[in-house]
Amino acid sequence: MPQTIENKPEPVIPSLYIDGQWRHAVTESTFPVTNPATGELLAEVSDGSVDDVRAAVAAADAALPAWSKRTAYERAEVLFEAHRRMLERSEQLAKLMTEEQGKPIRAAGIEVKYAADFLIWFAEEAKRVYGQTIPSARADQRFMVLHQPVGVVGAITPWNYPVSMITRKVAPALAAGCTVVLKAAEQTPLCAIEVFRILEESGVPPGVVNLVTTSDPAPVGAEFVSNPAVAKLTFTGSTSVGKLLARGAGGHMKRFSMELGGHAPFIVFDDADPGHAAKGAAMVKVLNTGQACISPNRLYVHRSIKDAFLKVLVERVAKMRAGSGLTEGVSIGPLIDSDALERMQRQVDDAVGKGAVVETGGNRLIDEGLERGFFFAPTVLSGVTDAMDIYREETFGPIAPVIIFDDEDEVIAMANDTKYGLASYVYTQNLARAWRVAEQLRFGMVGVNDINPTSAAAPFGGVKQSGQGREGAHEGILEYLDTKLVGFSI
Ligand code: NAD
Repeated sequence: MPQTIENKPEPVIPSLYIDGQWRHAVTESTFPVTNPATGELLAEVSDGSVDDVRAAVAAADAALPAWSKRTAYERAEVLFEAHRRMLERSEQLAKLMTEEQGKPIRAAGIEVKYAADFLIWFAEEAKRVYGQTIPSARADQRFMVLHQPVGVVGAITPWNYPVSMITRKVAPALAAGCTVVLKAAEQTPLCAIEVFRILEESGVPPGVVNLVTTSDPAPVGAEFVSNPAVAKLTFTGSTSVGKLLARGAGGHMKRFSMELGGHAPFIVFDDADPGHAAKGAAMVKVLNTGQACISPNRLYVHRSIKDAFLKVLVERVAKMRAGSGLTEGVSIGPLIDSDALERMQRQVDDAVGKGAVVETGGNRLIDEGLERGFFFAPTVLSGVTDAMDIYREETFGPIAPVIIFDDEDEVIAMANDTKYGLASYVYTQNLARAWRVAEQLRFGMVGVNDINPTSAAAPFGGVKQSGQGREGAHEGILEYLDTKLVGFSI
């Protein structure tokens, strides 16, 4: 029985933004949004259905001709304004993100800045959609190549980076001259609402961007796939859902880009500084409580420096304080839900049952009020082998599994032995080795002595089952443009 607006506690937020209007769902259903650190109810938002999505797609389709005809300079102006407003509101947005998603307030502030970076990067990039002229073999012929907006974009985003995953799609789409219907993650609609308010206030015309919130994403994905007005799908999320949507889009020969799961290797060679590498590993592993697609999932450490590496890693990880991200001194927030907690315990128990050793952590945290949220102790496992689930399954949580290796070829083969291919990391002081290994790793991104090889200016994306297409950088706008050849007989 769907719950309606009348029998819900306040506040009920009309969270569908369609054709420039904030609306409730056609069915008037709503769903709750809760704080993963405390279980507290934050708000009720509109539970959109296929009818709402159809209205949003129709609005985006109607707005497309006028928006795509605006000059790149006019479209850029709106994005510059959105960038300015997002930075102006960054404290408020960061606090909301901490409450809704759980990450510590400092990390939330960094994400808002990263999100705003996409707005300004693509404001600038809008003006660099260059075409080409090509010489013909015929004396009386000329070729011209144009890039034109693909049309209406259906976008689906995850909860782990609830603001930046939106701007990473919406900014290039708008810059290219496309219109958008975005379905936000059901765990983090409040952040999405704030982003769309900023876009609205920045002068994005009605219908150009549309937001749908829903507790039931599958019918929305199906509508994006089958609705002929949607020209392109862009998705960030799990590999399983990405494949489902890619199959659907392929059936209708629609363009798609997919940013999916990862299983990053983090390789520490014997010529690296083990303490420096361990500090980097500890920092990137707990980033967003391990709920990042670029999170290291296999830490390969050379046998000769294993003890020195483990000592620093365990020291660092053990002293991290978990709690509400709004509390001073907290460096690790909650997991998103109880399923994630169960996955952590299952992966730890499976590994320990097969011979791994828990160096620190390994269990749910329930002291000092943490039992109200989904907290798992930051964990280091040693003695990890390829027989364990954690060696192949994406963990998406704060568990660092350490594996010993002996030589370069062996570790490259082990690192590449995964269906995923998103981020990878290499620690070495040997320049030749850094080149060799970076070239041989079958991943879309390699950090060499660098735990954060990401930026709005750099192409982000994966190979193999980590996805297709790139976000950010010049490549990011190409995902929203079609290539058209015009041949002239003169
Ligand atoms: P998910 O695939 O369950 O959800 C992601 C989004 O897809 C949400 O908006 C959800 O509502 C929607 N969704 C779920 N089922 C759907 C369906 N049948 N049809 C249409 N939409 C559907 O993933 P998640 O667990 O929420 O997010 C974590 C995953 O996202 C991880 O695998 C992570 O690695 C990946 N991720 C990848 C990147 C990247 O850039 N490569 C970035 C962030 C997260």
